[in-house]
Amino acid sequence: MLTKTPSAAPAATVPQEITAGPPELETGGVLFIDLNAIVFNWRSLMQRAVPADCAAVVKADAYGCGIEPVTAELAKGGCRTFFVAHLAEARQVRAAAPEAVIYVLNGMAPGSSPIYASIDARPVIGTMAEFVEWDAFRRASGWLGGAALHFDTGMNRLGLSVNEAPALAARVKMPDHGIALIMTHLACAETPGHDLNNAQTEAFRQLRYLFRGVSASLANSSGIFLGPAAHCDMVRPGAALYGVNPTPAAPNLMEPVITLRARIVQVRHVERGAPVGYGAAWTAPRASRVAIVSVGYADGYHRAAGSFPAGKKGAAPAQAVVGSKRCPVIGRISMDLMALDISALTEGAAKRGDFATLIGDGITVDEVADWSGTIGYEVLTSLGRRYRRVWMR
Ligand SMILES: *Cc1c(COP(=O)(O)O)cnc(C)c1O
Repeated sequence: MLTKTPSAAPAATVPQEITAGPPELETGGVLFIDLNAIVFNWRSLMQRAVPADCAAVVKADAYGCGIEPVTAELAKGGCRTFFVAHLAEARQVRAAAPEAVIYVLNGMAPGSSPIYASIDARPVIGTMAEFVEWDAFRRASGWLGGAALHFDTGMNRLGLSVNEAPALAARVKMPDHGIALIMTHLACAETPGHDLNNAQTEAFRQLRYLFRGVSASLANSSGIFLGPAAHCDMVRPGAALYGVNPTPAAPNLMEPVITLRARIVQVRHVERGAPVGYGAAWTAPRASRVAIVSVGYADGYHRAAGSFPAGKKGAAPAQAVVGSKRCPVIGRISMDLMALDISALTEGAAKRGDFATLIGDGITVDEVADWSGTIGYEVLTSLGRRYRRVWMR
């Protein structure tokens, strides 16, 4: 129960919440996930891509936001198709959305076909060997479930080569071939001017011609913003659903989804010239008030966001919101702790047991990523396992 004051809960917490993890008083931080915002983001992407269908990518525990609650909420909101990386994730999606179509992106492990059938998941086939194995399984077992063919159009990560397409297209003319989708993946979608976008889109257009009558999917989150030529029959957003900016050169059209609050365990006075934290990497330029909060790099707050006298990896000093003011993160990030300079707050404005906001209250996932020298995707998927989690809807 979140009844104790002071609490990490935002003022206007809605009654319908799902929680997981330890009670608030037993953790260093509380992670709030706004399921309405995820569904809102899905709807806005879906409207942008219409008449194409809009799937949802929920791999990596729905980018750290919780695969089961996120899947259930999106399914309730009208999403019918989900993409995951692994079979184990497909199981989680199946439990949360019994009617969903589920594609597994990361290839079929040898011998795994019966597992796909048993949970009614569709493999995304990226090699001839997988195709042959899947085809043999379908013939032997009578399983009629579908699969996708993934073609490599220039990223050189996963997928069949375009040279293999004509032979496969001939197979797909047979009845009950079970190929429900062809897809490819853009390498540079978040850079709209990159030559590879046009080259990949054009290569995929030719594949679509070969596979006339089979649904086609090209765009991830950023790809949706490349315009209708990239929409095909189905788009596959992940990051944008969870609030990461799909158009990094322009303002973010997505709603923020997560709020991360960390408990203040001490407020201390630090004399001018005294260091704070490991390596004495920060020294007080004046007499300072410092809040020590109980989240660190073991919780997924990247150590690279801390102070490094030789110049840190990230663009600017990290910040957290305390008492509605942004305060700088100072010194090294420890495993379980970090320090904030709260000298700008009035004395007593922040005290032991209050919460500092590390993500949310205006601090975006993308900002934290910048401070850490990484991308929003990694900030989300690093979110620690120790938090109390609260899904609001
Ligand atoms: C992860 C992934 C996506 C989703 O990408 P975002 O950039 O998060 O929208 C789509 N397609 C494939 C093949 C992926 O691996």
